[in-house]
Amino acid sequence: MSSRIDLHTHSTASDGTLTPAELVRAAAEAGLDVLALTDHDTTAGWASAVRALPPGLGLVRGAEISCRWFGTEPAVPLHLLAYLFDPDAPELVAELARVRAAREERGERIVALLRADGIDVSWPEILAGAAGGTVGRPHIAQALIRAGLVATTNEAFGPDWLGERYRLPKEDIDVFHAVRLVRAAGGVPVFAHPRATRRGRIVPDALIAELATVGLAGLEADHEDHSPAERAHVRALAGELGLVVTGSSDFHGTHKTVRLGAHTTTEEAYERIVAEASGVTGVAYG
Ligand code: AMP
Ligand code: FE
Ligand code: FE
Ligand code: ZN
Repeated sequence: MSSRIDLHTHSTASDGTLTPAELVRAAAEAGLDVLALTDHDTTAGWASAVRALPPGLGLVRGAEISCRWFGTEPAVPLHLLAYLFDPDAPELVAELARVRAAREERGERIVALLRADGIDVSWPEILAGAAGGTVGRPHIAQALIRAGLVATTNEAFGPDWLGERYRLPKEDIDVFHAVRLVRAAGGVPVFAHPRATRRGRIVPDALIAELATVGLAGLEADHEDHSPAERAHVRALAGELGLVVTGSSDFHGTHKTVRLGAHTTTEEAYERIVAEASGVTGVAYG
């Protein structure tokens, strides 16, 4: 029987709703063989996920790094999945801490914009809702739901709310710098949902080709935010550039409707990723 491998998920260490321990248990119950924990800009969930690992489940410790491509104006935000990197690599640790701080500052500014329009949401309450995890717009979305202004997280990401009107940029990491830092930390960088036009602007293929020359290892093709045509495009591009192709759920618990294992990665692709990691952080087994 072939393995079921899901390489992109979030816990309460960022904007997911299951704790890392609940997430690994849910992964085993969903019949997964390998799960990657990829919280936004943090490794804070790693230890408790490892401690709670059910027998038979492999855990790839990772993160989803908030990046930006500054090659066009305005710069394009993008997400870089990073697997099996050294969580103590000083430069990477410092950059992640800087981005987390920038997220808090930006969240507070978004709340100020909302409040200036008479919308009664409270930053201290939103921050408390993140419970020490990396704060993001999904946490602000919960406040909008509590205030009865929208019914769902998805609605909160609409153009009248956090998707456009009350959307502010945050201080992300230059994507070339991020790829180099992840590689220097022994990790393996994979571009998350690179073609997801429904999330906003995307980068040109030429940029992805350039990133491949500085260490990008793979592209996430199968993702709920990609149309079938977008998946096919990513697959073809990865083939041209010799990059690994992944598929994953990007599970966020109840903050999204997608289920664990909704999209998966082949064993061959997974093995290539593991082989490219330098071994400081190996796959953990339950
Ligand atoms: P932020 O990281 O603060 O910019 O917020 C973006 C995060 O919100 C992403 O990680 C997504 O997981 C999540 N997100 C984006 N669009 C939606 C949506 N329509 N519904 C639920 N979550 C979303
Ligand atoms: Fe998220
Ligand atoms: Fe993402
Ligand atoms: Zn994600």
